[in-house]
Amino acid sequence: MKTIGLIGGMSWESSLEYYRIINAAVRERLGGLHSAQCLLYSVDFAPIAELQHAENWAATAAILIDAAQRLERGGADCVVLGTNTMHKVADQLAASVAIPLLHIADPTGSAVRAQGHTRVGLLATRFTMEQDFYVERLRSRYGLDVLTPSAADRATVHRIIYDELCLGQIRPESRQQYQAIIGRLAAAGAGAIILGCTEIDLLIKQADSPLPLFDTTRLHALAAVDFALER
Ligand code: GLU
Repeated sequence: MKTIGLIGGMSWESSLEYYRIINAAVRERLGGLHSAQCLLYSVDFAPIAELQHAENWAATAAILIDAAQRLERGGADCVVLGTNTMHKVADQLAASVAIPLLHIADPTGSAVRAQGHTRVGLLATRFTMEQDFYVERLRSRYGLDVLTPSAADRATVHRIIYDELCLGQIRPESRQQYQAIIGRLAAAGAGAIILGCTEIDLLIKQADSPLPLFDTTRLHALAAVDFALER
């Protein structure tokens, strides 16, 4: 088994999910007492969130490059960056280490296509919804037509991520707001929804949505397990 190097803490609420999904999948596949070989480097999210909102991406990249290099020195065989938003600096991060970076958009795009969807709605931070780094990868590599919510709805989705989900607050009224936004994306032609932020699965489950959901946390964690167990 290879060793998974996870950069977590963005937020740590989602890192818990990664750790649980990765270990559960290894146990399911190998049986018995098997669990994942895994290194976790968990950052302090507050300064990173501040730098994001100041659009100082170079400074965020420096923090994450340091984290990735620590994981590599510690013996990790890959880097798994447990946040969609920070894939903004994925290219710099990948270039800073000799081990592969498992990009979160790849298992997501593959899963969406495997289920036959081409037009999908995206729920994520405003950085992920409004900038090119993520949507463009889904378009160019997976041929997806990605719909994002209206400006007002994007602001709501973003606020709930940073003010609630990253703080571990799960509120029924916020779930209802997300459900209404999913309804508007469905009306605009989306056939499925990408949960493009690693905390959204804490709020919205498949039973809450009339459209199929593609949870990036789960898909990314399972891609890490595939990598670790591949011969
Ligand atoms: N975890 C979130 C994501 O997947 C948002 C927090 C962050 O900016 O890293 O985008």
